Amino acid sequence: MPTPQLPPSHTAAQDCDTPEPTWAGWRGPALVALIVFCFALLGILGRPINFTSALWPANPVLAGLMLRHPHLAHSPLAWLGAGTGFVAADLLTGSQLLSTLWFTAANLVSSATCCLILLRADAATRYMQSQHSALLLFAAVLAAASASAVVAGGTGPVLFQTELWVSLSMWFSGELQSNMLILPVLLALPRCRPFSISICFPPRSLLRLWKHAAPLAAVIASTAAALTVGGADSLPVVIPALLWCAIRYRFLSTAILCLVVCLILTAEVAMGSFQFTPQFWNSALSLRVGITLLALGPLAMACNRQARQRAMEQLNHTISHDFLTGLLSRNAFFLQAKQQMGHLCARQAPVAMLVLDLDHFKRINDCHGHAAGDAVLRQFAQVAGLQLRAGDTMGRLGGEEFLVLLPQMSMHQAQALALRLCAAVRAHRFALGGSSPPLHVTVSVGMAFCPHCPPPHAIDALIHSADLQLYQAKQNGRDRVVSTVYGNTSDTPSHLHHRRHVTGTR
Ligand code: GH3
Ligand code: MG
Ligand code: MG
Repeated sequence: MPTPQLPPSHTAAQDCDTPEPTWAGWRGPALVALIVFCFALLGILGRPINFTSALWPANPVLAGLMLRHPHLAHSPLAWLGAGTGFVAADLLTGSQLLSTLWFTAANLVSSATCCLILLRADAATRYMQSQHSALLLFAAVLAAASASAVVAGGTGPVLFQTELWVSLSMWFSGELQSNMLILPVLLALPRCRPFSISICFPPRSLLRLWKHAAPLAAVIASTAAALTVGGADSLPVVIPALLWCAIRYRFLSTAILCLVVCLILTAEVAMGSFQFTPQFWNSALSLRVGITLLALGPLAMACNRQARQRAMEQLNHTISHDFLTGLLSRNAFFLQAKQQMGHLCARQAPVAMLVLDLDHFKRINDCHGHAAGDAVLRQFAQVAGLQLRAGDTMGRLGGEEFLVLLPQMSMHQAQALALRLCAAVRAHRFALGGSSPPLHVTVSVGMAFCPHCPPPHAIDALIHSADLQLYQAKQNGRDRVVSTVYGNTSDTPSHLHHRRHVTGTR
């Protein structure tokens, strides 16, 4: 049913109708503890492979969780739960109590710093939907990495006999890379349909499929080339392909591709020449910072493109929809109706055009004020929309006049629908707000039915024909439907050809 539509921004990830679950009571902190425990364990158990220790997913996952559920970020119990998760994973894998507590403090500081900065931003920026999202995220990640390095830096000289700046640099670079690769994915995940992909299957044509898949193919090819050449020097090879993805795909897809490609390249470079141990601190630092900056470019471009696309969609919506009722504007109705008539004409399918006009609307304005008139128009659009089917098109012609195109209906069915619409408006109590009593409002309808839809250019004639019936409905006493059969010879001026068929059906 063509009910009033919300602007496109309301369909975005964070504005999805499905609310983010608010884990009340002990469930929130317990879930945080469990999730942190699992990801901390994953990071610890991955250490022997050398590469996985390059990535510590627990901190960005904790920050992502808190940012997606801000009520948890403000709950000391949730942070206590997170601390418990870190400590439990460390102790379970044989760490000393002192190092466990020290590392846990650094981990919590990292996630808390991200939350402190990103929770101050508006929702669109925080959830990677504004132009500045990627840069703000980078700033937050930079601050988080620095803060956690300051807290954990002392562990090197005190616990592991390494230089202070070595442990500082290892913590800083590790946090920087992990947060910058994982957080964008978590923040951009929509609440509902998290894995909806814009590619339609089956694809309409091979060319279409290729256009969708080409940037992905370029990423695969350039990653393979970088792996073949090997070494840190080959990393920039993937940048053009990732930028292409940023232009063609949604932000989330680009963020996932960045994460996967960067992990593969980190593994290749690390396994080829060094390990993530203090001995190779300088190689680890340059590789991790390089990878982080490599991801920043495509992520920033994807944010920018998505924000611009959303602005365009909002502009389009504003242009094509009536601001008061949310129905199609006059121009948009004509465009959509003509398109529908083209399809119907090709199939020689029936069509009915309704012109609706609220009765004595001027009196409502005069007696109750213009705002009350506006409220009636808004409610009328909703009441009428509820009577229509999914494929029907409704628009506001102007003032208190509306148009409805009913495709694929017999004349009898179209008349029945128009009568139901009239009855629904008659039965509705139009609320004016405040202490004003609800209003009774009626509508008159003129209908032109055509058993074989005329070509799109005859739309004006079809509307004119329906308009003449509306005039008749007003003459006959209002609050009724008057219909006619529109002649097949509709290419010539309609009023010469249409034939009154049914009158005054109330
Ligand atoms: P009839 O039953 O013959 O259609 O009488 P009517 O009073 O409905 O028709 P008329 O054309 O005399 O008055 C239409 C009124 O609609 C006049 C105009 O001020 C009012 N109107 C037009 N657009 C708007 C709007 O956007 N908001 C409000 N509140 N009133 C509007
Ligand atoms: Mg009017
Ligand atoms: Mg009127």
